[in-house]
Amino acid sequence: MKTLLINAGKCIDCRNCQTACKDEFCDNDWSPLAAPQGPRQYWIRIVNEEAGDGDRVRMQRVPLVCQQCADAPCLAAAADGAAYRRADGVVIFDPEKAQGQRAIMDACPYGAVYWNEARNIPQKCTLCAHLLDAGRQPRCVTACPTDALRLVDAADYADDALLPQPIERLRPELGTGPRVLYQDLPRPFIAGETCTGDGAAVLPGVKVTATHQVLGRVYEAVTDEFGDFSLDGVEPGYYAIAFEGAGLTRKTLSNMDAREALNVGSVRLYPLA
Ligand code: SF4
Ligand code: SF4
Repeated sequence: MKTLLINAGKCIDCRNCQTACKDEFCDNDWSPLAAPQGPRQYWIRIVNEEAGDGDRVRMQRVPLVCQQCADAPCLAAAADGAAYRRADGVVIFDPEKAQGQRAIMDACPYGAVYWNEARNIPQKCTLCAHLLDAGRQPRCVTACPTDALRLVDAADYADDALLPQPIERLRPELGTGPRVLYQDLPRPFIAGETCTGDGAAVLPGVKVTATHQVLGRVYEAVTDEFGDFSLDGVEPGYYAIAFEGAGLTRKTLSNMDAREALNVGSVRLYPLA
C-alpha cells in the first residue's frame, strides 16, 4: 500500500514540489490515470498558517495532498465507476467516466479536488501513479530538497511505537481514514517573557511550568537572558502557568487558552516582601 510520509516540520516552503507537479501534469496526458492538469490547480499545496500574535508569531506549514482515504467520500459520490482504488491504494478519477461529476469534488472534505472547467472533470493528485507503475517515485518526492516528502509502504508504519517520531494523520476527526502519514504537524506553543514589577528590566532564570488543566500534562522552561520563554508542541487546551524565580513572588495564570498558539505577553513578577 503506497502512500506519502510527510514531515511537516521539514517543509521550508520552497514550492519545488508544486513546480515539479505542474511540470509532470500540465500539458501531459497520462490517461487513463490523469488528463492534463487544469489551470489554478495545486495537487500538492503548501498550507501556510500564522500562529501566535504580537511579537511571538511563527509560520507553520502543512503540505496538503489527496489523503488516499480508506473510507473515501469521493469514491462513494462517484457514479458509473468514475472513481476507484488501485491495488496499491491510490484513488484515481477516470478522466472519461468522471465527466460532469461535480459531486466527486464536492464530497472531498480536504479540499484536495479541483474542477477542470475546460474538460468538465474533477482532478487531483494521483501519487504519480504512472511513475509508480514504472518503478519510479512521485515527482514531488524527488523534487523535495529536505526529505519532507517520502514515498513509503504503509505496512512498514503499522506499528507507530517503533518510530522515533509519532505518526499522525491530518484531521482524523473527519472520519475518512486518511492514509497519508504525517510527522511533526504544527501544534500550539506557549510563549512570553518575564520582567520586573515596574517593567524596567527582564528577568532571566525564571522557571515556567504549564500544566494542562484536564490532562495534567506538564511542560517546563526557564526564561533566557532576554526573559523570554517558549514551550513548543504543547497539547491543545487550557493551562495553569506558574512562574517561579529566586527572591520573587510566585505567580500563576489560570485558564490560559492554548487551544491555539498562546502569547502570554509580559508577566510582571515582584520581589518577595
Ligand atoms: S482526500 Fe479527498 S479526494 Fe483524496 S481520497 Fe480522500 S476524499 Fe477522496
Ligand atoms: S519541496 Fe519539500 S520543502 Fe519544498 S515546499 Fe514542497 S514539501 Fe516543502
